[in-house]
Amino acid sequence: MRVASVIVDVPAMQTDRTFDYLIPEKWKEIIQPGMRVAVPFGPRKVQGFVIKLKNEPEVERLKEIHSLLDLTPVLNEELLQIGYWLTEKTLCFMISALQAMLPAAMRAKYDKEIKLLPTSRLDELEPAVQALMDESTSIQWNEIEKRDLLHVFQKDIKKGFLEVVYHVKNKTNKKTMKQVEPAISSSEIDDVIKTLPVQASKQKEALEYFKTNHAPILIRDLLNILGSTESTIKSLVKKGLLLEKNIEVYRDPYKDKTFQRTVPLPLTNEQEKVISPILASIDDEVHNVYLMYGVTGSGKTEVYMQAIDEVLKRGKEAIVLVPEISLTPQMVNRFKGRFGSQVAVLHSGLGAGEKYDEWRKIHRKEVSVVVGARSAIFAPFENIGIIIIDEEHESSYKQEDNPRYHARDVAIFRGEIHDCPVVLGSATPTLESFARASKNVYELVTLKERVNNRPLPTVEIIDMREELRNGNRSMFSEALYAKLLDRLEKNEQSVLFLNRRGHSSFVMCRDCGYVMNCPHCDISLTYHKSSHQLKCHYCAYETQMPHVCPECNSEHIRFFGTGTQKVEEELAKMIPQARVIRMDVDTTSRKGAHEKLLREFGEGRADILLGTQMIAKGLDFPNVTLVGVLTADTMLHLPDFRSSEKTFQLLTQVSGRAGRHELLGEVVIQTYTPEHYSITLASHHDYDGFYQNEMMIRKLHAYPPFYYLALITVSHPELTRTIDVAEKITTYLRKSLSNKTIILGPVASPIPRINDRYRYQCMIKYKSEQNLNKLLKGILDRYQKEIAQHSLSLSIDLNPYIMM
Ligand code: ADP
Ligand code: ZN
Ligand code: ZN
Repeated sequence: MRVASVIVDVPAMQTDRTFDYLIPEKWKEIIQPGMRVAVPFGPRKVQGFVIKLKNEPEVERLKEIHSLLDLTPVLNEELLQIGYWLTEKTLCFMISALQAMLPAAMRAKYDKEIKLLPTSRLDELEPAVQALMDESTSIQWNEIEKRDLLHVFQKDIKKGFLEVVYHVKNKTNKKTMKQVEPAISSSEIDDVIKTLPVQASKQKEALEYFKTNHAPILIRDLLNILGSTESTIKSLVKKGLLLEKNIEVYRDPYKDKTFQRTVPLPLTNEQEKVISPILASIDDEVHNVYLMYGVTGSGKTEVYMQAIDEVLKRGKEAIVLVPEISLTPQMVNRFKGRFGSQVAVLHSGLGAGEKYDEWRKIHRKEVSVVVGARSAIFAPFENIGIIIIDEEHESSYKQEDNPRYHARDVAIFRGEIHDCPVVLGSATPTLESFARASKNVYELVTLKERVNNRPLPTVEIIDMREELRNGNRSMFSEALYAKLLDRLEKNEQSVLFLNRRGHSSFVMCRDCGYVMNCPHCDISLTYHKSSHQLKCHYCAYETQMPHVCPECNSEHIRFFGTGTQKVEEELAKMIPQARVIRMDVDTTSRKGAHEKLLREFGEGRADILLGTQMIAKGLDFPNVTLVGVLTADTMLHLPDFRSSEKTFQLLTQVSGRAGRHELLGEVVIQTYTPEHYSITLASHHDYDGFYQNEMMIRKLHAYPPFYYLALITVSHPELTRTIDVAEKITTYLRKSLSNKTIILGPVASPIPRINDRYRYQCMIKYKSEQNLNKLLKGILDRYQKEIAQHSLSLSIDLNPYIMM
C-alpha cells in the first residue's frame, strides 16, 4: 500500500475528514489502520490516526508521513467503526471520537521505549534487535528511529517478545510520599532524649521509636503509630535529628492489596431464573439486552459474576461498567476477589499513568475482565462475551462533553457486533429502560426479594415544616435526633445523607437580601469554611468572604443553607460525643482519601458517616442500622424533567444502605414536601407505583420515553448575538422539522451566563425525524467560522441529561 488516509488532530469542521499521505518506502510493511502517526499539516506537524490504506493516491504530490507513534494499532477495526458511529450519533468530530476511546496518557507528552517482555529471551530476537539491545532489556524509541529499525522491532513485537511502553512526562503522575529516618545513631538518640525538656514528650516518643526501629518510615505511618501530629516530626527535622525525604511510590493502586478469593455461591431460585436466559444467550452467541430489575441486596452482583464465569470458560471477555467505582472500592474487591489478576480496573480515581497501565493489560490481552466507569466501554477487547452495566440509571454513564455519548448505547452497539448479551442492572431502572422492557425491546428479568429474605428497612417521612411550627429550628427533626442518640447508645452506626452540596451554602445579607453571585456566571457563590472563601462551581472563581455587605454595608452578611460542613458543626454541638466522618468533594479530593474514610467507617472508628450523594452507592456495612436523609427535596426543584426520577432513585438507594445484614434497618427522610409522590412512593419501596405515576406525567408533558429530546445551547460573550443566533436556529428548525415535533425556545438557559458568556437554549422534542442529525450538522456548518474563532459556541446534545 502506498497511501494512508489519516484523521488529523485538528478538531474543526473543515478538518473533520481524512487526509491522504504517502507512506515512505521503509514503513510500507509496518503501517496499519488504527496506528497513530505524525504528519505535516500546513506549517506544523500534528498527530493523526491511520484509518485506511490504499494503493492509488487521489491527488497528486502527496506529502509523506513524518513519523510513527505506534508499532501496533492502538484502535482495532471495531473501535474505528465505533468512531464513525459516534460521529453520526453525537455529531462530534471523528478525532474527538477516536481520542475518547484511548487513555488520556496517550494524548499527553511521553517518552517511549521498547522493552523485552519477562517471558522472552534476548537470543530469540531478530539479530538486528539483539545487536542494538545488547545486554539491556529496554531501548529508547528514538534510538531505533534514528537507525531506521522500526520495521525490524515490529516483527518481534508481533511475535510477543517486545512491547512498547509509554512514560508520561507529566510529573504529577509520579506519586511521592514523605518519609523520615534518624539522622543520628541509636546511642546518640539516647543522649538527645536526656537533653530534651519535659514538655517535649511527643518528640521524645518519636525518638524512642527510632531508637528501636533505626530505619526509614513513611511520615503517615509514623504518625499513625505515635498518634502525634506532623509538627512534632517537623521540629525534629529542624533540629537535624531526623532526615526527611520524598520517595516515589509505585502506581498500581491494587498492587500490595491481597484479595480474599471467593467462590460462586449456590444461587437462590430467583437468581437461577434470572441467570438462565442470560446463560442461554452466552451459549447461543446471540445478542439480547436484559434489564435486570432487582431490589438492593437481591444478589445482582453475584449473578453478574457467575455469568462472567461462563464467558471466561469460553475464552471470551467481559466488560462491567459501574458508576465511578473509585467511589465503591467494595465493588472492586468483589470482582478482584472472584477473578483475581484476570481483572483490570479503569476509573477516574486513577492517575493518568495508572489508567494507562490498566489499559495496556487489556490491549495486550493479559486480562479478560474489565471493571470500570463510563469510558471502560471502549476497552480494546476483541472477543466480548458479555457487557454488564450496573446501576444502569446512573446519569454518569452519559458523557457531558464531546463526544456526548451514553455508555448504554455503545454497549448495545458492541453487543450487536459481538453477538453477546448486554445486561442492564438496577433497583430503580430509568423510565426509558423500563418502558423498553415493557415493550419487549429489552427482556425483563426480576429479583423481587433480598437474598436470605432480609426485609427492606422501614421508612419514616418527617415533615420539616411541622418541626419548624413546633419551634425546632435545627436541621435535625426530633425523631432523627432521638434515633441518632439511640444508635450511639447501642453502638450501631448511622449514615446521614445530604442532597448535593452546591448552592446549599450561599451567602446572603440579612438586612437587604443581597446574595453573593459569581461576577462571571449568574449563579450564587458557595461558602467554603476551611479556607473562608467563596467559590464558583462553574468557573472556579474564588474570593474572600466579605466582612460587610457589598450592597448596603451591613455587617449581617451570613452564609445560609446546609452544606456538609455546617451539618458537621451542628452535629458536634448537638451530639458532641459522636465520632463523625464527613465525605464530600472537599474531604475526598485527595487520591485514596475516599477509600480511607470508608475503611475507617467500616472498621467502626466512627459512629456517623455524613456525606453527599457519593455515599449513596454500593456501601455495605453490617453495623449500619439508621439512614437519615436531611433534606429529600433539594433536587426536586431543579429545572430538570428527571428531578422526580432522580429523587426517587436516590432515596431508594440510600434506604438500601440500612439493615443489609442481621440487624434491622430504619430510614428517616426529612422533607419540606412530604406529599410529593417521589418521596411517598420511595418510602414504600414502590418502584412500580412510581413508574406508573411518572409515565403519566412524562406523557402529559411530552418527555422521554414518549419523546426524544435534543438540546441546543448557544453561547456568546454578547447577549444580543446570543439571542440572535438562538432565534435564527429556532426559526430554521420550526421551518424544517415536521409539525408533530415540538420546538421550545429560544429561552435563556437556567444558568443564563457562565464564564462571561451568555447562554440561550432551544429544546427539540420529537418522535421521529429522519433528517434531524443532518439538519443539525448543517447548522454547525453554517456557523463554523464563528465557532472556529471561539466567539460563538454551539452545543448540541442529543438525549441530554443536564438541562442547565
Ligand atoms: P445487589 O447487587 O443486588 O445489591 P449483592 O449481589 O450485593 O446484591 O448481594 C447482596 C448480599 O447477598 C451480598 O452480601 C452477597 O454476597 C449475598 N449473596 C448474593 N447471592 C447470594 C447467594 N446466592 N447465596 C448467599 N448469599 C448471596
Ligand atoms: Zn446588604
Ligand atoms: Zn463563575
